[in-house]
Amino acid sequence: MPYFAQAAVDSATIHFDKLYTYLVPEPLAEAVHPGSLVLVPFGRGNHPRMAVVLECTQQPEVPPRTKTVLDAAPDEARLTPDLLRLVYLLKERAFCTYYEAVKAIIPYGAQYRMAQSEDGTPRLQSQMERATENWYIAENAPEEAVRLGPKQKLALQMLQRHSMSETALETAGIHRAVLKGLLEKALIRQEKRWKAIDLYSEIPLQPEQIALTEEQQAAYEALMPAIEQGRGAAALLHGVTGSGKTLVFFKLIEQVLARGKTVMVLVPEISLTPQMILRLKKNFGKRVAVQHSALNHTERLLQWKMIQQGCVDIVVGTRSAVFTPLKNLGLIIMDEEQEHTYRSESSPRYDAHEIARWRAAYSNALVLFASATPSVESYYAAKTGRYQLVQMHRRYGGNPLPAVKLVDMRAELMRGNAGEISVELAQELQKNLLQGEQSILLLNRRGYRTVCACQDCGHVIKCQSCSVPMVYHKAQGHLMCHYCGKTLPLPSRCPQCGGTLRYTGFGTQKAEEELERLLPKARILRMDQDSTMAKNSHEKMLAAFAAGEYDILLGTQMVAKGLDFAKVSLVGVLGIDNLLFGQGFRAYENVFSLLTQVVGRGGRAELPGRALIQTTNPEHPVLQMAATQNYEAFFAQEIAFRKACLYPPFCAVCMVGFVGTNEASVVQAARQFSAILAQKAAKVPGVPLRVLGPAPYSVVMVNNKFRYKLTIKCRNDKAFRALIGAVIEEYGNQGLASKARVAVDMNSDGER
Ligand code: ADP
Ligand code: ZN
Repeated sequence: MPYFAQAAVDSATIHFDKLYTYLVPEPLAEAVHPGSLVLVPFGRGNHPRMAVVLECTQQPEVPPRTKTVLDAAPDEARLTPDLLRLVYLLKERAFCTYYEAVKAIIPYGAQYRMAQSEDGTPRLQSQMERATENWYIAENAPEEAVRLGPKQKLALQMLQRHSMSETALETAGIHRAVLKGLLEKALIRQEKRWKAIDLYSEIPLQPEQIALTEEQQAAYEALMPAIEQGRGAAALLHGVTGSGKTLVFFKLIEQVLARGKTVMVLVPEISLTPQMILRLKKNFGKRVAVQHSALNHTERLLQWKMIQQGCVDIVVGTRSAVFTPLKNLGLIIMDEEQEHTYRSESSPRYDAHEIARWRAAYSNALVLFASATPSVESYYAAKTGRYQLVQMHRRYGGNPLPAVKLVDMRAELMRGNAGEISVELAQELQKNLLQGEQSILLLNRRGYRTVCACQDCGHVIKCQSCSVPMVYHKAQGHLMCHYCGKTLPLPSRCPQCGGTLRYTGFGTQKAEEELERLLPKARILRMDQDSTMAKNSHEKMLAAFAAGEYDILLGTQMVAKGLDFAKVSLVGVLGIDNLLFGQGFRAYENVFSLLTQVVGRGGRAELPGRALIQTTNPEHPVLQMAATQNYEAFFAQEIAFRKACLYPPFCAVCMVGFVGTNEASVVQAARQFSAILAQKAAKVPGVPLRVLGPAPYSVVMVNNKFRYKLTIKCRNDKAFRALIGAVIEEYGNQGLASKARVAVDMNSDGER
């Protein structure tokens, strides 16, 4: 009976993404199943396009004009049933196309693309051919009859012992020409195999002897039943900084592995958590694979292949690693679960929490969210019993949390210190320097001066393509846009009136300069996006700091997180006020978490820690609570605010973004979307919503494109998602997509 595939094509738009039926020709019948990647003719011109097969059917007749599948990728590229279900999940919840979901789930290197075969017919080709290498295998051929050179003899002997890769042979001094001779004589054969690389192979296997503290042991024991019962559960491990959450992870991992199951460890950003990979490798060795964006395509693919082939028990990676094809999952850990990097800001706009929960439920695994400052949403879920709540209140070794003091920068200015580093902080830094102790300073802005304005007419020099001020980078001697990266040579006069330009604001480069002036003897390490461009520079810098080659580590958010250095006893926060008044309902949560984390970098070993937070708002309640590191108090206040003003977790915030080149058209398209929504919502009862906007984004223009948004407070359920889906379709039907591209984000920060 004829066999058909229902497939979704690549490059569809979200207004028009549906399944097309193709006939599967006899020779491909074996290769096409739900989850298969195929090449199909598409559109009027029947141009070949990539597609993913979602369903397969059989029916007695072939309807007229049914098109035929052109080619299918090999079985190894097929989505497993759980990943295929994720495609549907993403499509429904993240408002992306089916194929966008496929691209998020399968790494680039494992995807397929169209190529021409020699006779001109289109066929599939794997994105990456370089990932294989030649292996040589000895044949069981009689060799007496042939004469061999000494090198050839040697090579043959080696290969008779075991097959070897070309690279390995090359290292052993056997070159291609030698092998070619043996191939011609049919004494050996050649085979292409997946190249294997052992990333981080320089890390030796050195299992730590883990003796848990009482509190850690209690946390571990509280979490074990969920693992033992294998019933799919979610838990939140809330432990103060330095309480040893990692140790609890490791004990749990041991237990999961002992039960023959696998583990996924998610971290917010790989460069911020180099110690996690290191420690996992040390403890669990070769069966650890990594998945993150700092890997190149080949590395990523090879690691992925290892996972797919079942050669790996532990995967550590960033957000997208949540799609890893690990079989037999027993535990998913999401460290620093409050970090925004777990929410994707480009299509598919998913939240890794949601995917992790789904995967845990699907595989009867435990998903463990962990943080010293959980997101308000997660903590609420734990408080109300949706997650199991496990807490650790004490630091390892009984060290107290650092003592925190707020330094009033207004008073500083009145005392005549116009600099950005308070007298008190300078003194403390000096003290540390004399005692040979280290300090960490956080300043959340890179560059030198952040605003360049005319003293006479007030004109601010902005990027030509984006509505933001250009930032002065002294080292490079230019102005730079932090949104699009464009640079401008330093102007000497105001381009509007010819007046004198003045630079204000304060970035890491300027802070470095001020520190050098205040503490000429100090060895200062600056870490920000500009100083860490080179590959592995993070690791190198952190290793140098750990080795005591520097006294002060100064940097942006990247110095605030995950670091564990015994000699750090002082933490200083130079600039935080701008974040307090940041956009989005998570602004306070973000400030509280950032401060708690950076403060927690100090006093982790024998040395007691202290921290100074400089601010012009010392009375601000969020800063006060951050100073006492009182998460409970912060949560109580924040949850009350969320409830009163209706924000998550009491509703969902759906942000609909509109982007286009003509500002008026973008606004018009957004209005029209809103109108369609109102019209359709009126027809379905029981879908509560509140629509705000359209309003411009806080930065309205980026790269010459205008950006507006509608903010919809809603309940994120099937009825609401169906409604939005219908509105998007109508938006497309009315031709509005040409005015503004529309994107729906169910996880954005919205506006406060
Ligand atoms: P957290 O992630 O909760 O901030 P870590 O897991 O990084 O804390 O632990 C903080 C420090 O204390 C680390 O240096 C860690 O090795 C050490 N530590 C914690 N618990 C133990 C333990 N049971 N035995 C030995 N060292 C521990
Ligand atoms: Zn720009």
